[in-house]
Amino acid sequence: MGYFELSKKTGFRTTDKEIRIFTNDGKECYFVNNLKPYHDFNLPAGKYYTENRILKLGQPVFFDVPPTPKPNRRVMIPNGRLNIMYRNNPHKASINCAKGILILDFKIKELPKFKQDFIFFHELGHQYYGGYNAQLQKKEYMQAEINCDTYAAINMIVKGYNPSQSFISVRDCLSLPERIEASEKFNLKIKKK
Ligand SMILES: [Zn+2]
Repeated sequence: MGYFELSKKTGFRTTDKEIRIFTNDGKECYFVNNLKPYHDFNLPAGKYYTENRILKLGQPVFFDVPPTPKPNRRVMIPNGRLNIMYRNNPHKASINCAKGILILDFKIKELPKFKQDFIFFHELGHQYYGGYNAQLQKKEYMQAEINCDTYAAINMIVKGYNPSQSFISVRDCLSLPERIEASEKFNLKIKKK
């Protein structure tokens, strides 16, 4: 297939057993071992490279996703405008919703695009689910993070990613067992139609 560009979210089918899609910067995008006769998946708008034989579908694959978790707070970003800054950030990503500021660690720029998108959507989720503050018990704080992961997973699918990509992002970017387990469970609830 080689290099290709998508102007919108697009569905694909392949009969290949090992699927490896890269973004055009050579970074990992979608890697799957397919055990079935064929495999359907989506890609968001963007520039890609693959050596697989993939066929465009008439429409994107439909993933039946549960609704986003119920918000328990709302601190909306002013005018929906987020000011993104790159700094040394030991927490990787920190958002101040009231001020509309997202501070990302320099290392995040090096991550594959899908993981960057995951982190971005996760941080936006903090508008609805809160986040760390000294008054919260660890359990409540963990639940806020899990809700943000779920929010990110759903937004990734809307954008054109596949459920496994959000799970990989949680696993690789965070490595907290509670969040990995919750993310795996959530992804299992998403049905492909
Ligand atoms: Zn978070």
